[in-house]
Amino acid sequence: MTGKTFDVAIIGAGHNGLVCAFYLARAGLKVAVLERRDIVGGAAVTEEFYPGFRNSVASYTVSLLQPKIIADLDLYGHGLRIVNRKLANFLPTADGRYLAVGDGRTKSEIAKFSVKDAGRLDAYNNRLGAVADLVRTLMLEIPPNISEGGILAALPELLRAGHLARRMSKLDLAAKRDLLALLGCSAGDYLDRWFESDPIKAVFGFDGIVGNYASPYTPGSGYVLLHHVLGEVNGRRGAWGHALGGMGAITQAMAKACAAEGVDIRLQAPVREVLVEKRRAAGLVCENGDIIRARAVISNLNPKLLFQKLVDPALLPDDFRERIHAYRMGSGTFRMNVALSELPRFTCRPEPGEHLTAGIIIAPSLAYMDAAYMDARVHGWSKNPIVEMLIPSTLDDTLAPKGAHVASLFCQHVAPALPNGASWDDRREEVADLMIKVVDRHAPGFAASVLGRQILSPLDLERTFGLTAGDIMHGHLALDQLFSARPVLGHGNYRMPLEGLYLCGSGAHPGGGVTGAPGHNCAHAVLRDLGRHRLL
Ligand SMILES: Cc1cc2nc3c(=O)[nH]c(=O)nc-3n(C[C@H](O)[C@H](O)[C@H](O)COP(=O)(O)OP(=O)(O)OC[C@H]3O[C@@H](n4cnc5c(N)ncnc54)[C@H](O)[C@@H]3O)c2cc1C
Repeated sequence: MTGKTFDVAIIGAGHNGLVCAFYLARAGLKVAVLERRDIVGGAAVTEEFYPGFRNSVASYTVSLLQPKIIADLDLYGHGLRIVNRKLANFLPTADGRYLAVGDGRTKSEIAKFSVKDAGRLDAYNNRLGAVADLVRTLMLEIPPNISEGGILAALPELLRAGHLARRMSKLDLAAKRDLLALLGCSAGDYLDRWFESDPIKAVFGFDGIVGNYASPYTPGSGYVLLHHVLGEVNGRRGAWGHALGGMGAITQAMAKACAAEGVDIRLQAPVREVLVEKRRAAGLVCENGDIIRARAVISNLNPKLLFQKLVDPALLPDDFRERIHAYRMGSGTFRMNVALSELPRFTCRPEPGEHLTAGIIIAPSLAYMDAAYMDARVHGWSKNPIVEMLIPSTLDDTLAPKGAHVASLFCQHVAPALPNGASWDDRREEVADLMIKVVDRHAPGFAASVLGRQILSPLDLERTFGLTAGDIMHGHLALDQLFSARPVLGHGNYRMPLEGLYLCGSGAHPGGGVTGAPGHNCAHAVLRDLGRHRLL
């Protein structure tokens, strides 16, 4: 590719890099995407992890993917099928019972634990839903940017801010108060105001600590809870579903959409650095020395990786460089894929059923989650960790041999970096054994049914997927790293402090998850700057 010139060169074929590439190519630009791995998709991939067993090896469930993006890229036309779980969540409780959520029976299930909580459920859903409806409208928008360029530069940003303020003003007072509470408070504090029973608070509160190395009582975890209810599956708001063939089916369909628009996707093409000429991004230098020139360079990498490894730090403003150094990453995630000879039998509900299609949450209370976080801070992990188990082969027969199954174990909390200089290379097997034992406590025989396993500690997530500190979201979803401040205040509009360089990954608004939104919004910014004012 040496010497070849493109309009746009994108580093990384994560789902956001692909979405961005699609929109730019559709607008008539010549686009190249360079991916380090031998597969597109970043953290949204399906791979064989044990002979004959495939799974979504990193991200494992879909909800946040924007309907506009599904439609624009014609992902269904390119083979994607997303199915609903038969039950949303299943939570074994501390006293040997269970709470099942979804499928129209949440209220009666909650009433098993608290009639008062069951009576509050509709109001909770309505109030949270009102805030989610507002925040959802921001997903595909470029946030107002803090500008230092005088009144001419400030004017469009003021208009954006005014537009947002107008929409917020339409919320009633109670919803405005909820928005403030969710942005500022903890998920635990918010849920304690609504409910009294542990299982219901745990099943909702889990959303506040997913990919968030924090206690459910850490201020700001309220927003993380909200983030996880912004999506939908087949029109069902807040639901999570399964992509047939695994998450890789989403990114394979995106790659097909890109190919149809003429995007040049290169695999096994790691980028060494951003080429800079006359203080502007002018292309890429590949690990093999190839140079690709482009009018605009877009990075799908997390901001820390981009600015600490691929851009000469001397080219960055001092304050920006320091903020990137301080940018908080590390989601406390330990991820396993297991090949199973048979389905687990939970003591509280031994027979197979729709509960095995659900997100099975092993964390019976907010206090349990709080303790898991505290333990991990001190010891590196907790003896009683949080495990969400999903068994996608109960909905999808393409993943495992007939009669066998695959399960995703999404485990929180582990320390991104272990205390006292210990390495995850020395501790991953021990922690993996523990995670399996935790499931086995609730479903005896589970450990014996494990035929093979893939372990992804935070260090493995970093090595395999380029996720610095194993952060699944490309950076904490905290107020100082969200919206106009993602990744750094003054650069919330996808334009980085080096002219011609843009960010299209989850380190930009609206953050992590398989949404496609940063890729979509970044394409919008680039098209404007390259003089293509076509609206997306
Ligand atoms: C374990 C785990 C579980 C998750 N679970 C869910 C879930 O169930 N549902 C959900 O919605 N979200 C989930 N997430 C979050 C979600 O998957 C991510 O936030 C999202 O996929 C990130 O997409 P991205 O395109 O922004 O970046 P990435 O997917 O990180 O893509 C970046 C790409 O850049 C490539 N790259 C890195 N360095 C270079 C280089 N030097 N040269 C070229 N290419 C390079 C990488 O290989 C990668 O392909 C999970 C993530 C993880 C890791």
